[in-house]
Amino acid sequence: MPMTRTYLKGLDMTTGTDAFANLKRAYASGRTRPLAWRRAQLDALRRLIDEHRQDFVAAQTADLGKPAVETVLMELDLIVSEARFVRNRMGVWSARRPVPMPWALQPAAGWTIAEPKGVVLIIAPWNYPALLALEPLADALAAGNAVCVKPSELASNTSKLIAQLLPQYLDAEAVAVVEGGAKETGELLDQPFDHIFYTGGERVGRIVMTAAAQHLTPVTLELGGKSPCFVDGSVDLNVAARRIAWGKFSNAGQTCVAPDYVLATPDIAEVLAKRIGVAIGEFFGKDPAVSSDYGRIVNNRHIERLCKLLPAGTVPAEEPSSPLVQVASVVGAAVDMVGRRITAARADETTDGEKAKRDGHADILTVPGVMDPAGRVMCGGVVDRATRYMAPTVLFGTQPDAAVMGEEIFGPILPILVVKDARAAIHFINSRPRPLAAYVFSRNRSVRLAFERETSSGSLGYSLTLAQLLSSRLPFGGVGASGMGSYHGKAGFETFSHIKTVVSKTQWPDTMQAVYPPFNAWRTRI
Ligand code: NAD
Repeated sequence: MPMTRTYLKGLDMTTGTDAFANLKRAYASGRTRPLAWRRAQLDALRRLIDEHRQDFVAAQTADLGKPAVETVLMELDLIVSEARFVRNRMGVWSARRPVPMPWALQPAAGWTIAEPKGVVLIIAPWNYPALLALEPLADALAAGNAVCVKPSELASNTSKLIAQLLPQYLDAEAVAVVEGGAKETGELLDQPFDHIFYTGGERVGRIVMTAAAQHLTPVTLELGGKSPCFVDGSVDLNVAARRIAWGKFSNAGQTCVAPDYVLATPDIAEVLAKRIGVAIGEFFGKDPAVSSDYGRIVNNRHIERLCKLLPAGTVPAEEPSSPLVQVASVVGAAVDMVGRRITAARADETTDGEKAKRDGHADILTVPGVMDPAGRVMCGGVVDRATRYMAPTVLFGTQPDAAVMGEEIFGPILPILVVKDARAAIHFINSRPRPLAAYVFSRNRSVRLAFERETSSGSLGYSLTLAQLLSSRLPFGGVGASGMGSYHGKAGFETFSHIKTVVSKTQWPDTMQAVYPPFNAWRTRI
């Protein structure tokens, strides 16, 4: 049973309806608008993090087996720096911005002003459960909103901690936490919020957008997708391998902007696969299962989902109890592999809607001797269901019709596909939905420019992975299937603000009379 508690100024509410009504009252009172209130909230948010680092580390270890340093560097420090960044600039961002008026309107003055959207809802996922709830909260507070935060029930310890701490540090009349899963979120979505900021998967994104449409509520959708990473032979492969391995295997691959798969040119593809294996060894030792720097998969459902993406027979469907069962498991795996090939071939023949995708299949080269469409396991492929452990796994020679290429992996499996060249890689990427991020490792300027101009993604990184989201000066968001809208810094402030146009005209002289009817003077000009 998910916990369902709403924390509002000492009241123990049970419904999203009540939470919304209270926030609405608080916003209408005007308390969230003064810059002094906003500053106090952002300072309190920073204090909250600073005074409870250990609690967050413990909660995330319990939720995700997340290494302490990852929690601190990739979540807590980012929340603190975002809160500081927006606090120090929101005064300028919310001030009047004068705009020159056209001659036809003169004499007049015009300006824009940022006003808070009102009562906003933030729905967070489980993979960075503190960061993705509290970083948008910082932006929403800087913009002067009353805020309802709905953490993910799948990271239940972090959710509980957020629900306990926020009312202790922030203005509990204007910031509420509602815990729970689909049912509780559904009830919140029935309320006429002034903005909904959702981070998570595409399926729920559609639910959020449909619900928002009932009230014409604007939405920001921070979704995911399969983020490609292109590598050619012009780069230092050791550096590329380490940066790819870091981006992919941080948080055990459960990162929205992790490189989902690699497109490598034939000259270096196999060497790169091996070097990524070496980088994994350097990061996590011979056995990542005993490394305190390597995380775990969030739950059993995701472990089972990930196992199905590995080449047939890599992981038994269940623990074999006798030699007979083991034989059956090997036979089953072989049948499964043949079945996958037939299904993939049939899908290729029959699925009309996948035409563009099929078109891209021709860009991928086959690797002699690799039989399974998922590729050959170069390293990893080890799973311990009891501890929700999946080893960092590199697959080589993966084909585009493999299951692992059919969905966002969101786990520690890195397929490496071989492409003829950059042009084929661009064509392949463009045959698929637009990703949240794309990464290019090439020293060839024209190759980099071709990716920049000819592919579309939420963000693009040259010779790096993940790190583009570290700066509050850069907007962060998706495009197409990977999301809409953005946040971080000024982009976040504007997401949670309405930019209002104001025009002021003097009454005398009444120049507007030039456009009043009757239009006799104008007729001669038509
Ligand atoms: P999740 O399961 O935690 O769901 C996200 C939120 O939606 C949770 O708060 C959950 O309670 C709520 N929810 C779940 N089912 C619902 C329903 N039926 N109705 C209403 N609300 C519901 O997270 P997830 O979807 O597993 O997250 C993983 C996905 O999120 C991946 O695709 C990943 O790429 C994406 N993601 C994107 C970003 C980004 O910044 N763009 C960041 C992290 C994760």
